[in-house]
Amino acid sequence: MKALSKIAAGVSPSATLAVSALAKKMKAEGKDVIGFGAGEPDFSTPDRISYAGVRAICDGKTRYTPAAGMIELRQAICDRAKADYGLEYEATQAVVASGAKHMVYIALAALVDPGDEVIVPAPYWVSYYEMVRLFGGVPIVVNVSEEQGFQLTPEQLEQAITDKTKAIILNNPSNPTGAVYPKEALKAVADVCVKHDLYIISDEIYDKLVYDGVPFTSVAALSDEIKAHTILINGVSKTYAMTGWRIGYALSPAPVAKAMTNYLSHSTGAPGTMCQCAAIEALSGPQDEAEQMRQVFEQRRDLIVRRINAMPGVSCLKPSGAFYVMMNLEQIIGKQIDGQVIGSGDDFAKLLLEKSLVAVVPGSGFGAPNFVRLSYAISTENIETGMDRLEAFLKQLQ
Ligand code: PMP
Repeated sequence: MKALSKIAAGVSPSATLAVSALAKKMKAEGKDVIGFGAGEPDFSTPDRISYAGVRAICDGKTRYTPAAGMIELRQAICDRAKADYGLEYEATQAVVASGAKHMVYIALAALVDPGDEVIVPAPYWVSYYEMVRLFGGVPIVVNVSEEQGFQLTPEQLEQAITDKTKAIILNNPSNPTGAVYPKEALKAVADVCVKHDLYIISDEIYDKLVYDGVPFTSVAALSDEIKAHTILINGVSKTYAMTGWRIGYALSPAPVAKAMTNYLSHSTGAPGTMCQCAAIEALSGPQDEAEQMRQVFEQRRDLIVRRINAMPGVSCLKPSGAFYVMMNLEQIIGKQIDGQVIGSGDDFAKLLLEKSLVAVVPGSGFGAPNFVRLSYAISTENIETGMDRLEAFLKQLQ
């Protein structure tokens, strides 16, 4: 057999897979594992949205749509952006893809030539790094520490830019850190991008999951110049508990939208027509279910942060958005349990699962090896039980 393509052969499997595979196996064996690994809301899609999908099927909306999506959905996306952030886009600047993840991929397809550098602040969402490489691009990782609130500074960005830099991927609010950029800090970073004529791929999929009453700033709303450099990515997965419907979208300058549309037309085409109809209902209908879910997430965040910061040897920042916390393990690296040494977040996650039946995601996959990520998209009861087990585990460390 001839060799696989160099690009495909070079793609790493998700580093988070090992622990989640072990957790699944243990659950299948009947073990009562509490999983903090979820990357999706535990709520069901609101009924009115699901029924819009069902109605679309019954009404015969079961055929192809244009590659960039139904014009009604593209208009609904623009209307949402206008209502939320005062952003003005033509419907043709809105492009729909099969989830925000796919949309990031398509944006990179439109922008990245082999050898182009794309700046990826770490901790980063696992897929960004590999996606850049899928197009022959070079991910330039800039480490952003917990002390700086997991937020990139303009100075760090300046230092990472070379004449090969094409774009930066910003994720605001962030998976895995939950960090949300305050307006001024975001503007300072975006101004550097404009100065160097970089594209800003801004993944704002968690924009509606922000806490403490602080308003969210979409980067494209900061100035016309910034907007002209931005590919704004969002979707319905997190806000409306619609992960399985696979609808993501981008708002971008017309030439980028056109290139992405062309790419889609020769690859996936548009996502399912009935899913697009459900997304129209999600974006155009009442927004109160989304707000109710947000409030539940905020209560859970308060609970998990309080519990973690009351435990010996671990800590976490109070995240302002998304539904994750990054737990800092630096103080317990090198400690042992039953003679087994915790040398990294990977060891910690494996031992915590084996000994205490609690699954967390090691930070190595996010470029943060001394951390683990916990999702609080699980019930309050499970958070409490999982935290009790974590506390008991930590007390056994020597
Ligand atoms: N971006 C980020 C930062 C995410 O965390 C996720 C989901 N884990 C996605 C994109 C993917 O969203 P979608 O379901 O719309 O593909």
